[in-house]
Amino acid sequence: MATVETVQGTIDAEQLGLVLAHEHIRVRDEAMADQWPARYDEQLELDAALVAVNDAKDRGVQSIVDATAMFNGRDVRLMKRVADESGVQIVACTGIYTYDHLPHYFDFRDVDAVTELFVEDIEGGIQGTDIKAAFLKCAADAPGVTENVEKVHRAVARASVQTGTPIMAHSMPAIATGPRQVEIFKEEGVDLSRVVIAHCGDTDDVDYIEGLIEQGVYVGLDRYGIEVALGIEARNATAAELLRRGHAERLMISQDFCASIDWFPPEMAEQAEPLGMIHKWSMTLVFDEVVPALREAGVMDDATFETIFKDNPRRWLTA
Ligand SMILES: [Zn+2]
Repeated sequence: MATVETVQGTIDAEQLGLVLAHEHIRVRDEAMADQWPARYDEQLELDAALVAVNDAKDRGVQSIVDATAMFNGRDVRLMKRVADESGVQIVACTGIYTYDHLPHYFDFRDVDAVTELFVEDIEGGIQGTDIKAAFLKCAADAPGVTENVEKVHRAVARASVQTGTPIMAHSMPAIATGPRQVEIFKEEGVDLSRVVIAHCGDTDDVDYIEGLIEQGVYVGLDRYGIEVALGIEARNATAAELLRRGHAERLMISQDFCASIDWFPPEMAEQAEPLGMIHKWSMTLVFDEVVPALREAGVMDDATFETIFKDNPRRWLTA
């Protein structure tokens, strides 16, 4: 029987149910939070996480894939508390979220030493707990696939080959990082049907996205609500066209919502919605506005909904 690791332990894959495939319970820099803890209010962060997750639960969500890795303050004890208090299952990852920088720790340690860290989280447990990572995370963004980014990608790839664990790769379509990321995974022998190239929905270049799908990976239309990257109507048009072209089985739809995030000073965060940088960014936008729009466009029936929100995440997580 196929199983999946969650922060509350191993479950039967069928128990995943309705899944949000890319969200964050909390995003904050662990070095900042460690060095200047008074800048953070853990109770507020927990409250925000519970509000977001309970709202998603009200829409029928049973599981949330939390894509928070190193440098975004991954904290599996917090995830477990949110899962316990909300009754929503949370799936955690291992990996490093960097666009280039790596700590000096890695200067004289090679790819395989990084792989070892990831495998430890997958097989032993994360942060001294027995909570195991269910997937691997890496990222490529504006600086491109730099030497350090490639090192993390190869380490993630090797951990995937060694353990059979799936991969989620943050990408930046504006500079077309996706094809190079896929190429690295291929070189390392990764099963591409266990890879999600996240954030493909940030472009409306359907042919670019289709080119990735043709390699056998899943693509994430997973940043609904982040208008500054692309508006909801353009995102929906892209989703609709991919569905018309028959790619339902390759799509992950989600919001990349961060219940709390320390990247923005409060005055900037307050202006994000009025200035149109975000639009109803939440863990429910896809159910409130996206699914209804795609249904209206005639590209999403009940079977398509089940494929995208149940079957795809389950297949990605379990092979
Ligand atoms: Zn994310």
